[in-house]
Amino acid sequence: MSGHLAVIGLGPGDARYLTPEAQAALAAAEALYGYGPYLDRAPVRDGQSRHASDNRQEGARATAALAHAAAGASVAMVSGGDPGVFAMAAAVCEELAAGPETWRSLDITIVPGVTAMLAVAAQAGAPLGHDFCALSLSDNLKPWDLIERRLDAAAGAGFVIALYNPVSRARPWQLGAALERLRRHLPPTTPVVFGRAVGRSDARVTVTTLQDADAGAADMATLIIVGSATTRVIVRPGRAPLVYTPRSATEAGA
Ligand code: SAH
Repeated sequence: MSGHLAVIGLGPGDARYLTPEAQAALAAAEALYGYGPYLDRAPVRDGQSRHASDNRQEGARATAALAHAAAGASVAMVSGGDPGVFAMAAAVCEELAAGPETWRSLDITIVPGVTAMLAVAAQAGAPLGHDFCALSLSDNLKPWDLIERRLDAAAGAGFVIALYNPVSRARPWQLGAALERLRRHLPPTTPVVFGRAVGRSDARVTVTTLQDADAGAADMATLIIVGSATTRVIVRPGRAPLVYTPRSATEAGA
């Protein structure tokens, strides 16, 4: 089969975060698929067709891109951040697994990007300096009680926790409930970072504590990093604080 599908991470924001590999893969494609606002971030090239779809249409979008590639085209699917993190690469694999046998011989490349968690962490200091995990707070594809169990396990095990998809119009209460849950396990002074639209001109990063963290301060473009019991904040005169998690841990400090 002569077609090709590249699943490309655009990074969290503007072109500074687009890797040279992603740029080359975008330029090489005849057809681009993706959620509209992400497609708008891909540089325009003459003769390239664009197939925008709605946020919730991941399965249908993946199927359309696979079918287009299977017909012999060089197709690119774009994702914000990294395509493998709560994004299109897994959707493509799901459709490939369920689709016609012939799709399996397609040439498929996954091009990594800077995921929001890493961009926010870098802005804040080094909160991921020790063991960490990432959770999506979206209960569209999993039940809320599973999310609560994972929050309990992660906080109980001493992981720093990155929270993707904290809120949306259809999911207004989940972040507040998650913070409440984490307060059962972690000290009130645990550092919490809110990173909004990081990598864009309107980026905003704020550092607070678990007791003061306000779920109302987050929107769909926000990623939250909740520290562990060992995460610290260095206050600096005239400069933003540095949040870091020391590289070592003891049983008692975990
Ligand atoms: N594949 C993406 C994540 C998709 S899930 C990645 O690797 O980053 C969408 C969630 O990612 C958002 O709800 C938000 O939590 C986070 N996110 C995406 N872009 C962001 C940005 N520029 N700043 C902060 N968080 C972002």
